[in-house]
Amino acid sequence: MLSTTKKRNTCKVLEIRRLTIETAVVRFERHGLEFEPGQYIRVGLEGDPEIRDYSVYSGNDKDYLEVLVRRVEDGLVSKQLCDLEIGDEVSVGGPYGHFKLTEEALTKPLLLISTGTGISPFHSYAESHEGLNFRLIHGTARADENYESEFYGENYFHCVSREEGGDFKGRVTDYLKDLDFDSETNAFLCGNCDMIYEAFDMLQDKGLPTGQIHTEVYF
Ligand SMILES: Cc1cc2nc3c(=O)[nH]c(=O)nc-3n(C[C@H](O)[C@H](O)[C@H](O)COP(=O)(O)OP(=O)(O)OC[C@H]3O[C@@H](n4cnc5c(N)ncnc54)[C@H](O)[C@@H]3O)c2cc1C
Repeated sequence: MLSTTKKRNTCKVLEIRRLTIETAVVRFERHGLEFEPGQYIRVGLEGDPEIRDYSVYSGNDKDYLEVLVRRVEDGLVSKQLCDLEIGDEVSVGGPYGHFKLTEEALTKPLLLISTGTGISPFHSYAESHEGLNFRLIHGTARADENYESEFYGENYFHCVSREEGGDFKGRVTDYLKDLDFDSETNAFLCGNCDMIYEAFDMLQDKGLPTGQIHTEVYF
């Protein structure tokens, strides 16, 4: 839900890591903004009224904020963010959202399922909580879209739908058909709505209670 009551900060861009032609991690000053892993912030160019939502990619113990942004060709803000240079300024507000790890979920196995940049909140989970017990399933069109997957070690599983590569050829939901998991698992789904609706139904059909399935839709 849109809220304009939170204070916005002007933050200098500190670093940009270009992961693919279309995707970049943008690091900027944090200015003390408190958030819980899984929450999102609202970001735009400083002085520009156009702002969009981006999950925080970085851990909550870092003294900076990072977001993972994919350039949407017909879009406005994502292109501007991908084209930023070090020293440019962004306007940042937040945090927002409830896609957080509950105390209870932290003690149970986690099944983290994402498409594209929907991996971002899971990076924040893993960077914030050392030794987290998770399996991360990530679906992308191309094999080079495994955004900094070495960070997750053996917990990462890559489904690639449009070319050879990764750990599985097909969509995340194709892979889920044969996936088994502990009944105490908490599943977190993040990315595009088609994947989320389909995966939600599949997990329910496999017996996972609705209360153990958490979702964050990007578009
Ligand atoms: C809670 C939340 C968190 C989000 N976190 C992230 C994030 O971490 N990283 C990220 O890159 N995006 C994220 N998004 C999407 C982001 O807010 C913008 O919608 C996206 O960057 C496009 O903005 P734009 O101004 O370039 O395009 P707009 O001018 O706003 O929209 C253009 C069109 O692009 C579609 N679109 C939006 N995102 C995508 C996409 N990834 N691929 C293809 N089409 C898309 C929209 O539905 C729209 O039809 C998040 C969205 C939400 C609701």
